[in-house]
Amino acid sequence: AREDITYFGAGPALLPTETLERAAQALVNFNETGLGLAEHSHRSEIANTIINEAKADLATFLDIPDDYEILFMQGGGTGGFASTAYNMVGTWVANKQAEISSQPGQNNSEQTQLLNDAVNNDLKLDYIVTGSWSAKAAAEAARLFGQDKVNIVADAKLSNNGKFGIIPDESTWKLSKNAALVYYCDNETVDGVEFAGFPKILAPGPDGKGPIVVADMSSNILSRKVDVKNFSVIFFGAQKNLGSTGITVVIIKKSLIAPITKQPSAQTMRQLGLPIPPIILQYDTIAQNNSLYNTLSIFDVYIAGQVLKRALANFPDNVSGQEKLSKQKAQLIYNALDSHPDAYRVVPDKSVRSRMNICFRVTKGGDIDAAEKDFLKQSTALGLTGLKGHRSVGGIRASNYNSITLEGAQKLAQFLIDFAKTS
Ligand code: PMP
Repeated sequence: AREDITYFGAGPALLPTETLERAAQALVNFNETGLGLAEHSHRSEIANTIINEAKADLATFLDIPDDYEILFMQGGGTGGFASTAYNMVGTWVANKQAEISSQPGQNNSEQTQLLNDAVNNDLKLDYIVTGSWSAKAAAEAARLFGQDKVNIVADAKLSNNGKFGIIPDESTWKLSKNAALVYYCDNETVDGVEFAGFPKILAPGPDGKGPIVVADMSSNILSRKVDVKNFSVIFFGAQKNLGSTGITVVIIKKSLIAPITKQPSAQTMRQLGLPIPPIILQYDTIAQNNSLYNTLSIFDVYIAGQVLKRALANFPDNVSGQEKLSKQKAQLIYNALDSHPDAYRVVPDKSVRSRMNICFRVTKGGDIDAAEKDFLKQSTALGLTGLKGHRSVGGIRASNYNSITLEGAQKLAQFLIDFAKTS
């Protein structure tokens, strides 16, 4: 039965049973309307209310400032790799165009030439590669814009014997001048690597100006405080800490979208040899339509909204309360691992251990394959499931998302201790 299982899968993640039961009811007959939420029009009052409440609750829980817009999009976290690159390049071109046209004494063709030169010589997309997902995002940018436009600021694999598990020291980062974006993944789901905090080197100066920072927070959003004003864009798929698969959330600084900054026309971009995004990945378009440019899954927004309402009710101090609990749960599990070094080896370096995805090897007895098989068999028998590591890296991964209760984490920690002790 559902109550007997604690599911540590990496995403989709567990959702609270009461949320699912409410959603199940809404799927059949929403608020006695005789129609389910997946049937109601996305143009209805109902849909608008659900979107606006979810936006407001997310802003409250995460303390998102007023000069940021929240978008609900589709295409998953992977869609975010493309949309961030497309939109930030568009914004870079728009700003460059404005800068060039504000300089006096040049005719149209001279201005066009200057813009061309700027794109050819100066346009760079910066990626900090600390794990599989930031590597994929960098690869997507190279696919869309060409390898020569992508600058790898740091590659954790190169300085760690070909394996992820560290974050290279900021002093070694090679940032471009005026990059269209500086991208990083705050929590690497596959590799169990999490940034301890915002990289100091990217912090805005005293004038409030800094690089255009974009972060993928798919697997740690809503689990700790985020100083949103450091970021131009934060995006995340909903299916780990927010809700069900099907929506991608984008938190974007309003100054990067119309009417303040308009994306360049398709014609301009074509002349510059640059791609333009499909309309459903264009932030301007989605923002101007309150996320309803096309048919959005309101049912998925509803589930996210219910998760947020529950979080607001459970934590009077909002995300800070969740942060304390997340830390406590992660500590329980890491302590159990660290106190049995003969049985377990945590994969990433201690300084970058993820609170959300706890990646380790079972070394007990010396035969790792056999030990991990046994570990998975015994844990499953106890209802601790979803612990198998990502297929690309193997090992064990305990995903400690917000829906894992303190009791769930305690149960896993106790199993880790018991398993280490038995021969
Ligand atoms: N970024 C991160 C950090 C992820 O963990 C994932 C998925 N696990 C993705 C992006 C890709 O998300 P999706 O499968 O929704 O495209």
